[in-house]
Amino acid sequence: MARHLITSAIPYINGIKHLGNLVGSQLPADLYARFQRARGNEVLFLCATDEHGTPAELAAAKAGKPVEEYCAEMWAVQDEIAKGFRMSFDHFGRSSSQQNRELTQHFAGRLADAGLIEEVADQQIYSKADGRFLPDRYVEGTCPNCGFESARGDQCDNCTKQLDPVDLINPYSTISGSTDLEMRETKHLYLRQSQMKDQLSEWIDSKDDWPVLTTSIAKKWLHDGDGLQDRGITRDLNWGVPVKRGSEDWPGMEGKVFYVWFDAPIEYIACAKEWADANGKSDADWQRWWRTDQGAEDVRYTQFMGKDNVPFHTLSFPVTILGSGEPWKLVDYIKGLNYLNYDGGQFSTSRGRGVFMDQALEILPADYWRWWLLSHAPESSDSEFTWENFQASVNKDLADVLGNFVSRVTKFCRSKFGEVVPEGGAWGEREEALIAELTTRIRAYEGYMDAMEVRKSAGELRAIWVAGNEYLQAAAPWVTFKEDPETAAAQIRLALNLIRLYAVLSSPFIPDAAETLMRAMQCEDDSWPDNVEAALGALPVGAAFSVPDVTFRKITDDEREDWQEKFAGVRE
Ligand SMILES: [Zn+2]
Repeated sequence: MARHLITSAIPYINGIKHLGNLVGSQLPADLYARFQRARGNEVLFLCATDEHGTPAELAAAKAGKPVEEYCAEMWAVQDEIAKGFRMSFDHFGRSSSQQNRELTQHFAGRLADAGLIEEVADQQIYSKADGRFLPDRYVEGTCPNCGFESARGDQCDNCTKQLDPVDLINPYSTISGSTDLEMRETKHLYLRQSQMKDQLSEWIDSKDDWPVLTTSIAKKWLHDGDGLQDRGITRDLNWGVPVKRGSEDWPGMEGKVFYVWFDAPIEYIACAKEWADANGKSDADWQRWWRTDQGAEDVRYTQFMGKDNVPFHTLSFPVTILGSGEPWKLVDYIKGLNYLNYDGGQFSTSRGRGVFMDQALEILPADYWRWWLLSHAPESSDSEFTWENFQASVNKDLADVLGNFVSRVTKFCRSKFGEVVPEGGAWGEREEALIAELTTRIRAYEGYMDAMEVRKSAGELRAIWVAGNEYLQAAAPWVTFKEDPETAAAQIRLALNLIRLYAVLSSPFIPDAAETLMRAMQCEDDSWPDNVEAALGALPVGAAFSVPDVTFRKITDDEREDWQEKFAGVRE
């Protein structure tokens, strides 16, 4: 039995994510986790919310709530939506947890001991009225480039130019509106990533099985221009992990917190400890996944993320792990995904353009979205959601191919043989040919799923459903029955077993429908079809079944048009 540690990039706490975010990380990670479990492997699948940083503080202020309260509420919202999409996380944690606080401080202490942290004096904008330093997003002013009057300290939203707060004309505090600002000296900790360049380069070069998208992004950051830069890992903020050197105070760093990009990936590890603590397990139980001196040397660790997150996961987080000098598990494989666009443009939170995760579940069950998103996953390039394509794909693949097969077989059997697996007859050449085709396709499906080739996996699964339909069409038991009811019984017996087989194979993609089918077949045996012929005999003669309610319904043209309009967003 193999052991798989799987993490999905952790979504930021503010606001509800759209379908592009879902398919960019959580959903393919869930597909892989469900597949590995179905194969009988041991899986620990983790995700969490990324809660620190100024956007959370600003969003909480906007909502008129203390930031801790805001984050707790938004975590519950995201947790509920993830459950709605059937994310099978073993734990959905929080980067603001006590476990992550301690682990982040621990890593900082180790890195400091290894000479990889430097204290740097810096000039930063200080607001006398607010009595605090103002990080990038707390300062606004006029853009020196285009004259836009509410450009943020880090970037102008109008012309997209990257800015430094000191570039702004007539800067003011976004907390109080005060213009009484001055430059003051403050000290920050910098992680000396440049010292780790050779070690990182060697490690990335050893990953010859990584997708080109992943390694090319990593190598670009590592070698282009001046190469890997040292980075500030602290901020003058209240909300975050307080700066400590292990469990000791850090003189000169009072009142400062670690910058969110430093503590967020450490949450992957802390989340395992949260999982152990929440389930009455010991430290040994989570460390056997994360520490190679505690049993994790045989763990395969796979990370899923959007391409924008690749640099942090190939460079910054490995610096933290390698630099600590401790035997933490490094990632074995990174599945980086491209972007999903929405109907000729981009998803836009501010303009309400596109379908957001909560809205999606209000209009259709999770399986419809899971199937479309995964079968159109943005892997080798960006992909696009259109309502026409969504409607066509759901109606054809799910309703016409899979749903119709199940309906025809179970209803025909009920009317001619009753709601039991019928006896009599034997398999002939047609059945042997079907078993041969299914065997070839199922082995290909396993190969694609193991390789995380999401679209190819979906294509193979669809072909497996189609093979059953073609068999049924060619065997035509409703015709056979008139002349030769015994042979018709054998054909229907095989078709009923195919429904169970489809439930097992499809469960990583469409878990709810798979469960409905297994329940209808009144079968507890969900073992993987290592031997297809044997699997097609899993439902014995005389076993009872029931005709399931419509597994998938069709999307009408009226619905499609309504939704198209509803989610088009407000034009600017
Ligand atoms: Zn501008």
